[in-house]
Amino acid sequence: MNYKNYPMVSRVVFGRNSFDQMGDIIEPKRLNTRAPFIFLVDDVFKGNVWVTSRIPLAYEDELIYVSADEEPKTSQVDELVEQIILTHKDRPSGIIGIGGGTLLDLAKAVAIMLTNEGEAKDYQGWDLVKRPAIYHVGIPTISGTGAEVSRTTVLTGPDKKLGINSDYTPFDQVILDPELTKDVPKDQWFYTGMDCYIHCIESLNGTYLNEFSKTYGEKAFELCKTIFLDNNLSEEESQDKLMMASWHGGMSIAYSQVGIAHAMSYGLSYVLGTKHGIGNCIVFDHLEEFYPEGIKLFKEMKKKHQISLPQGLCSDLEDYEFSTMIDVALALEPLWENALGKHWKQKITKDKLKALYQKM
Ligand code: NAD
Ligand code: ZN
Repeated sequence: MNYKNYPMVSRVVFGRNSFDQMGDIIEPKRLNTRAPFIFLVDDVFKGNVWVTSRIPLAYEDELIYVSADEEPKTSQVDELVEQIILTHKDRPSGIIGIGGGTLLDLAKAVAIMLTNEGEAKDYQGWDLVKRPAIYHVGIPTISGTGAEVSRTTVLTGPDKKLGINSDYTPFDQVILDPELTKDVPKDQWFYTGMDCYIHCIESLNGTYLNEFSKTYGEKAFELCKTIFLDNNLSEEESQDKLMMASWHGGMSIAYSQVGIAHAMSYGLSYVLGTKHGIGNCIVFDHLEEFYPEGIKLFKEMKKKHQISLPQGLCSDLEDYEFSTMIDVALALEPLWENALGKHWKQKITKDKLKALYQKM
């Protein structure tokens, strides 16, 4: 047995208002006055002085607003990298991503592609990145994905949706300020929060589980139950706890894998553009057969927060679209192996997946 030797986020700050410390934290990392910090910021914060006035711009630093309406694409990463190279004389001192999983993943990918040749699509896969990324910082403004701790950046490319999984992907610095999540709309709070819950269920019920993953997974699972089912938290407590649940959920899948909901949700996303959080919920809702206990609680949470998921997403799909969806899902072999064991190919068929998709 050869155990994996994982990198982790090197530094992390946690606390309400810790966002204000960003300037002090990054300034020592400035290479020279021509090497800027590039802030990639979710455009939901455009005009939001409470957030933007606290972003410490100096010298040639640049703030680029990016929409999170669509999930990151490899072409978008390439365009951002080109824009940064063309606008600045020196290679940046660092990339700071401020937003949800979409912005965090973009920041990681841009930091990698500033030091590695070619196009982002060339690096989708496992351990293909050759050179260390430039200094990169993640500041989540919505909790659940675990993108702040993970070793991947999920990108949709010309022929697949797959992460850049590498030792150079994790952030050098993360700033966890739960107060930044205070204005997340309720439905989105639920969808992204459920991403964390689903990470726990898939990790804890997977065949890859070990004590490392289990310890983190159980903590995140417990926090999710407190946040989404018990009725006794203040807003602040709930924000603090969900930020830490996201962290632990992400740590849990670092040393194991996600499972069927994620595999199938990638298929939905690839064909229909369905976003990760809501897509996972739509799929998970139909997986009783695989995760009976997890789904039972999920349905209670949905009911308690009066969330109604879209129905009939796949009702008008053509056969070739189902085929693509199924192929994208089945290509994620480690996820299926984690969920169903080494002989997963004997346990799941294309027809079975099609029948499940038809229900969604
Ligand atoms: P997101 O970044 O797509 O944002 C969802 C919505 O919430 C957007 O409309 C955004 O503008 C809004 N929003 C974010 N913060 C807000 C705030 N403070 N106030 C108001 N609105 C706010 O959502 P997400 O669910 O965090 O991320 C999904 C992405 O994360 C997907 O692209 C997925 O592939 C990726 N992901 C990555 C990993 C990883 O390990 N790298 C893991 C899971 C998911
Ligand atoms: Zn996820």
